[in-house]
Amino acid sequence: RRRLEGELEGIRGAGTWKSERVIASRQGPHLRLAGGGAGILNFCANNYLGLSSHPEVIRAGVETLEQFGAGLSSVRFICGTQSIHKDLEEKIARFHQREDAILYASCFDANAGLFEALLTPEDAVLSDELNHASIIDGIRLCKANKYRYKHMDMQDLEAKLQEAQKHRLRLVATDGAFSMDGDIAPLQEICRLAEKYEALVFIDECHATGFLGPSGRGTDELLGVMDKVTIINSTLGKALGGAAGGYTTGPKPLVDLLRQRSRPYLFSNSLPPAVVGCASKALDLLMESNAIVQSMAAKTQRFRSKMTAAGFTISGQDHPICPVMLGDARLASVMADDMLSRGIYVIGFSYPVVPKGKARIRVQISAVHSDEDIDRCVEAFTEVGRKHGVLP
Ligand code: PLP
Repeated sequence: RRRLEGELEGIRGAGTWKSERVIASRQGPHLRLAGGGAGILNFCANNYLGLSSHPEVIRAGVETLEQFGAGLSSVRFICGTQSIHKDLEEKIARFHQREDAILYASCFDANAGLFEALLTPEDAVLSDELNHASIIDGIRLCKANKYRYKHMDMQDLEAKLQEAQKHRLRLVATDGAFSMDGDIAPLQEICRLAEKYEALVFIDECHATGFLGPSGRGTDELLGVMDKVTIINSTLGKALGGAAGGYTTGPKPLVDLLRQRSRPYLFSNSLPPAVVGCASKALDLLMESNAIVQSMAAKTQRFRSKMTAAGFTISGQDHPICPVMLGDARLASVMADDMLSRGIYVIGFSYPVVPKGKARIRVQISAVHSDEDIDRCVEAFTEVGRKHGVLP
């Protein structure tokens, strides 16, 4: 206990303590916080399309719960596969224009279960240094030869691919969109190098599925390389209804192999029916119309341009993740608190979630923010930025 208390004190002392604010309402652009705070404007959910509390998504979840029960009390291969799981896998594969898909309890699990099942000591994996923690952990679990290339540095990737020519199979692994910086992997260049050095490309699309690209298929659609990326992992827990769940989609023999060998799939419970119902409806809504995707893109553009005009540095490209770069961890944390006192819920990120000296407040835009919501957020940032000397 003494040792743990010492460590916790160290975290507090460094100003990197992360606390959980308790929400007493549904997820959405306007929240009620436990113990007061109603009408809080929320800018820190991955609810990019506003589907987490969409009435049709909720209704689909309730109906599926009624019809298929609370849960399966089983893993998939014993007695945990219902028709809805098969239907959702088919729908995911169709959405991404891939051969097949396999569901997991989370994308963390999909990432934990992929590399070990696919790669052996004869193979190599080349991973962007800023890949999500779950990709890093998934790679740690496999016995392939590991290469880490500098973030989005194509010269370094090429050098590592040359080094890795001695191995049987090469897999380049990258986030499609990086969640801390809102930057997008240079997939055209990655796919070109992969072709040149006979490598496969894997992307994690958690911060892209449902909203990047003209019809929301993701980074591969945005950059015109849908036919060149071999494997996609993504989540149902962000834009696609926000409940939970993840998946791998790609070639059928790979998905077949994962069903035989992937440990988080084999040894963990099936996705609950209500969750399957919500995700399935979210995909239906996206396949019916591009309107929600376009609305989110317009709101993102509004926020980024107004904040830049106000004098802030916003990292990343045209992504709804808009990191307001501040540098200092304490400043990010104090400014986020001041924003909340003005009714705007945003979160400061600091080491170890982002590199030391690169603390920021990460703002996330959703299709369900109104223009007024966005303008209120920019005004509050401007006031708080002036107060703390970030703006003149
Ligand atoms: N990959 C990336 C890039 C993520 O941002 C996340 C979630 O934070 C995950 C994987 C894990 O997704 P899930 O919440 O479905 O486990």
